[in-house]
Parts: sequence; structure tokens; C-alpha cells
Amino acid sequence: MIRFALAGNPNCGKTTLFNTLTGSTAHVGNWPGVTVDKREGTYKKLDEKVEIVDLPGIYSLSPYTPEEVVSRNFILDEKPDCVINVVDATNLERNLYLTTQILEIDVPVVVALNMMDALEASGDKIIIDDLQKQLGVPVIGISALKKQGTDELMKRAYDAAKHSRSGSTVLENSSVSGIISKVKDALPADLESKLFHAVKLIEGDELEIKAHPEANEIAMKLKAEQPDDGFEGDYEAVVADRRYDYISRKFRSVVIKANKKGVTKSDKIDKVMTHRIWAIPIFLVIMFAVFHIVFSEDLFFMNAMGLNIANNPTAVNFFTGMGYEGLLEEAMANGEELSLGIPSLGVFLQSWMGFLTDGLGELFLSFMPEGTWYTSLVVDGIIGGVGAVASFIPQILLLFLFISIMEDSGYMARVAFIMDRAFRKFGLSGKAFIPMLMGFGCSVPAMMAARTLEDEKERDRTIRLATCFSCGAKAPIWAMLATVIAAIGSSLGFLSSIFVFLIYILGIAIAIVFALIMKLFGKNNEVPPFIMELPAYHAPQFKNLMAHLWEKLKHYVIKAATIIAASTVVLWFLSNFGWAFWQGLVDIEDSIIADIGVVLKYFFYPLGWTMGEDGWMYAVATVTGLIAKEDVVSTCEILGVSGSTLSIAGIFAFAAYNLFTLPCMAAVATAKSESTKKGFWVTLAWWFVSSYIVSFIIYWVLHCYEIAWWIGLILTAAIIAAIVISALYLARRIKRANSQATA
Ligand code: GDP
Ligand code: MG
Repeated sequence: MIRFALAGNPNCGKTTLFNTLTGSTAHVGNWPGVTVDKREGTYKKLDEKVEIVDLPGIYSLSPYTPEEVVSRNFILDEKPDCVINVVDATNLERNLYLTTQILEIDVPVVVALNMMDALEASGDKIIIDDLQKQLGVPVIGISALKKQGTDELMKRAYDAAKHSRSGSTVLENSSVSGIISKVKDALPADLESKLFHAVKLIEGDELEIKAHPEANEIAMKLKAEQPDDGFEGDYEAVVADRRYDYISRKFRSVVIKANKKGVTKSDKIDKVMTHRIWAIPIFLVIMFAVFHIVFSEDLFFMNAMGLNIANNPTAVNFFTGMGYEGLLEEAMANGEELSLGIPSLGVFLQSWMGFLTDGLGELFLSFMPEGTWYTSLVVDGIIGGVGAVASFIPQILLLFLFISIMEDSGYMARVAFIMDRAFRKFGLSGKAFIPMLMGFGCSVPAMMAARTLEDEKERDRTIRLATCFSCGAKAPIWAMLATVIAAIGSSLGFLSSIFVFLIYILGIAIAIVFALIMKLFGKNNEVPPFIMELPAYHAPQFKNLMAHLWEKLKHYVIKAATIIAASTVVLWFLSNFGWAFWQGLVDIEDSIIADIGVVLKYFFYPLGWTMGEDGWMYAVATVTGLIAKEDVVSTCEILGVSGSTLSIAGIFAFAAYNLFTLPCMAAVATAKSESTKKGFWVTLAWWFVSSYIVSFIIYWVLHCYEIAWWIGLILTAAIIAAIVISALYLARRIKRANSQATA
């Protein structure tokens, strides 16, 4: 079987073309070693079956991101019979930058000029014959979306695959051509794609330098002899400049713009959406609307505005899926204010999901013998635990539906662009913003959304920060602690009304501190420059959206539910049995977990909140919270925590620990599958250690205030001074290191 690879920029339509070509034969996996999607399928309309590989989207064949390395290694090592370079016809110049690099490899290439429908709609034209002559490889105009020209493309690629092709470069008549040919001669005689390797060596490409150290020495010498104009010997920049120069000189003439000013519909929309002042407010409104529809208990604030539907029981019933009385009872049992606004779609679906799992539990209870260990295992352990996870599925899917719409339409690229400048100061790019925002809902989809980050290390760091953004399941913990503060009733009682808010702010503040620490101490963590091109706006495609959702659902259900199911069984066992477990069920005070709690109590002792008599209960609650954060509250309830042994300092320290420590099992499992191998272990250690430190500092600082306000003040001043001094010191050291590097 012969094999073609699809290569091209992100958003050029590779996956759409792939789906058109392969129908439903696609197989999605990961490239070995990295969490980049690997898609393979078969095209069957030629004499021979053709295997199609959808390479990850890239802007260049440099060695900076896993996507780039995967793509270039595939083309160089796996030697596809033909590379189909997918090019977005509406963005020709920028797409051709990658094309000029692919052409340097000894491999048959055809260029699929995609989005011809959109080009025609804009009134622009591309003279394909001229483009083909300039590039020296076949160019075929297609529309992957409208399925036009794709069979012709495959025929031409099939023909091209029959002949070998040696690389060609647009740098031929430029100032670097002399060096290229000399470096080429210095490479081993039997090496394939010498031209490509030579150019990359001249660019100072790390992977090439490692592979060909001798040739690199020659390249270094030649470069030193000819320090190029204006770039201070930075040959990566020189080569890039020559490529762009060639592209703009030779290819500009193949595009005939209909509109002299070149203002497209997308440009017009962008005038508003990426406006200097309005961009961020518009974005906030959109995000607010999305979160409101997914998570709000009171849609359009109807209840808050007094438009409640309490007088209309049928409406309550319909919207909440719960009978009017049922709702009242539940609200009273939870001691909640009765809110009778209309729930959002997400909350509505979630409550239905809850009914399904509750019903399932009751069903099992109805025929299984009461009070036996296996009934408890099935109902409390498995159905209870897995049900808690399942109840998040509707909201997660809904959130992802909106995010996918924003992604597919091209808006998300703009958001990243808008946020980029602020985030860069913290060593992150604008694209990290979305995962963080989503972290307030649930860390699991947030970590998955980190996939859009190109840089592996940045992805790891973003995942590491996920716990700082208090997720929905942690909110009940803060609510519980707020009531504890109110019960203390000291002069600090006013804190109870703003406690939840303070915790959210604390999370964001610490996230900034963490990001800065990681930036300062991480090596080589320059965020890649923002070279994402803003794709033209598209109407999102239904099929595409559903495919995205299906992938997310599969991921969540399999990865999270297996871990949750297993861990709930373990927790169920530990909290229902004593060490003499053959003697049957026991109360939680006599269970194994209570004994573990006593040990843990001393582990957490320095953090203040386990010093009381019932300290072990907080320790156990924290540990059960690792399974699902909702468990912190339910464990406190089961154990009968009174809160009376906690001081304000203890409450804040307890909250901080639970916020920053390891998230729930589902999130840990997601972090594992979304991070690099090494990054994941660093992340685990980070969560473990940083939460301890932050909780420790918070406890002792606040505790000093509790002893006497001036002791607290002195300590605060000392800590601030220590931070400022170390920051100044580090900044100076970094500055010096930088100036040495350039000297
Ligand atoms: P990839 O990132 O290269 O895999 O790109 P996708 O296949 O995900 O496509 C990005 C966007 O371009 C999607 O919204 C597609 O619907 C759209 N798209 C892809 N091919 C075409 C095309 O031929 N014409 C038009 N108008 N849109 C297309
Ligand atoms: Mg794709």
C-alpha cells in the first residue's frame, strides 16, 4: 500500500480534506511520545489503496514544537510516497512559507490549493499555472469542504508518487546559496535530503547540529566568514528573510485581488472583534453568556430580579425535572435558600443526569438485600461515585460545544491574539487563557483545552496552574467554610460574606505568583512568538462539531470513569470497614480511614488546621477530596465536623490547601494523559509541595494577626521585603545572564 501525508498550516483544512478523502475509515491515535493527534485512514478510489496520514498543523519545519518535530520526522524518516501540502488559498503568502521548506526535502510533493470556494466568493483569483511554474510541483485547486477537485488531487499525487523528486530551494539565487552548497558537500555522501539538512544546519537547528556535528563546524566557519547584513549573524533570521523575500517577489503576482484595498468580510468583522478597546469587553460578554448558559442556576437572573416562577409549579417541574415538592424538600434538606429561577440548560441537563443515577441506585436498592456489604458497594460505592462524575457530562459537553463553535469559526484564534500581550509577561501565551478560564468550571476539560497550546512546556505549565482556578466542585467547600466563619461570630464575622470571593481571588493571585516562579526558574521557556495567523471566519460545520464532542466525551468517560470507579471502591472499602474487615461494616469512626486520618493529622500539623481534637476529620476530608472535591464536604458531614476547633487562620489555611493541592482523580488522570511524561511528575510534585507551603504561610501569617495585630504586621512586612529583594536579585541575575549571552 502506498502512503500520502497531508501537511500544512493549522486551519488550512487538512482535517476536512482528510475526512473527505477517507470517509469513515479514520483511526485516531497519538504520535509516539507526544500528545499530538495522529490520524490515519484509507482512500479507495484509485487502482491501489492509499493510506492517508493527517500530520499536525505547523507553520514551519523548525524543531520548536512537538507538532513540527512529528511532521518533519515523518516526512524525512517514514518517507511517504507523496506529500500533499495543503495551502489555504485565501492566505497564500503565509502558507507558502511552509511550502518552501517542504520543497527542500527529497520527496514527491503536490500542492493542494484549498478553500477555492472561499477565494472565489471573495472575488480574488489565483493564476494556478503561474504558481505551478514557480514552485515546480503540481498545484491543484480544491475545496475540501465542498468536496471539489479532491479526486483530481489524488490522481495527480498518485502520478507524482511514481517518480522520485529531489529537493529544490527558493534560496538558490540568494546571498546564502554559496554556503548552502558548501555545507551540502560536507554532509555524508549517502544522506538523503541533503539540501534540507544543509539549510537547517545553516539556520542553527538543534536537531541537525546533534545529528551532523562535523558539517555543523564547517557551517559555523562559513557563517562567521560572511556575517550577513543587518541580522548580526543570526542565520535563522537571514534564511527566513530570504524565504519571505522570495515569496513576496515571485508569488504576489499570481494573486489577483478583486478588492484593491484587500478588505475581506473577515477583516470587517475583525475591525469590531479585535478592536483596540472593545475586543476584551466583547469577549467577556461572550464568555459570560457561555458560562451563564452552562452553569447558571438562575437563567437571565430572573429569580434575582424578582421574576421567579415559584407560583408556577408546572414550570418548576418542567425546567428542573424535579417535582415542585421534591424541589422544596431537597432545598430544605440542603438548608439552601430556595431559588426558583429557571436553571440554565447545563444545570437542567445535570439535574436530569442526577435523576438517572439516583433512580439507578434506587432500582438496585429495591431488589438487593438491605445492609449487606455488597449492596453498599454497588449503591454507595460504584453508582454513587460514578454517578457523581457522570452528572458533569452534560455540562462538559455543552461547554465544549460552545468552545468548539468558537474554535471552528475562527474566533478563538482572535481571543488568543487579544490576550497574548498580557500573558507573555508571565511566560505564557494568549492561548493559555482559555484553559484557565475553563478551570473555573472543571479542571478536566480545562486541561484538555490546553491541547491548543503549541509548546509542550507551556502546556505542562498551564496544566500545573489548573488547580488555582477554583472549580465548580470546590465551591461547596468554600460555602461550608463561610458558614463556619459566620458561626465563630467574632469581630471578623463579616469575612463570611466575602469568603468565597476571597478564595477565588486568592487562587488567581497565587496563579500569577506560580507562573512568575515557573518563568524565573524554568530554563529555556521562551514562549514561541505569536505567529498564529488569524484564519478567515467560517460558519462552523455540524459534522465537525459533533466529531469534536464525541472525542471529548470518549476521553472523559473512559479516562475519568475508570479511575473514579476504582477509587470510589477503595474509599468505600476504607471508610466502611475496620482493620478486622471480615467482621463486616462498621461506622466511619472505627474504619480504617479514621486510623489513617490520625497519621495524616500529624502530617498536616504544621498547617494549623488539624491541631484540634477533630483534626483527623479534616485530614480525612482532604484525602477523600482527592477522589472528588465534593467529597470534602460530604466527608465533613459524615464525620460530624463542627468547625469549632478551627480559627480564622485555620479556615483560610484549610481552604488554601484544598484549593492548591492535587485536584480530583479525574483531573489527575487527565493531567497525566495531557502532559509530557516528565512534566506530569513535576506537576504532581508541584501540587503536593506548593499547596503545603502556601497553606503554611497563610496559617502562620494570619495566626500572628490573631495573637496581636502588630506581630502580624511585622511578619507581613518581612515577607513582602523578602519577596521584593529576591525578585530584584533574580531580575538582575537574569539581566546579566542575558547581556552575557548576547556579548
Ligand atoms: P486543519 O486545522 O488544517 O485540520 O483545518 P480544518 O480541517 O479543521 O479546517 C479549518 C476550518 O476551515 C474549518 O472550519 C473548515 O470547515 C474550514 N474549511 C476547510 N476546508 C474548506 C474549504 O475548502 N472551503 C471553506 N470555505 N472552508 C473550509
Ligand atoms: Mg486538523
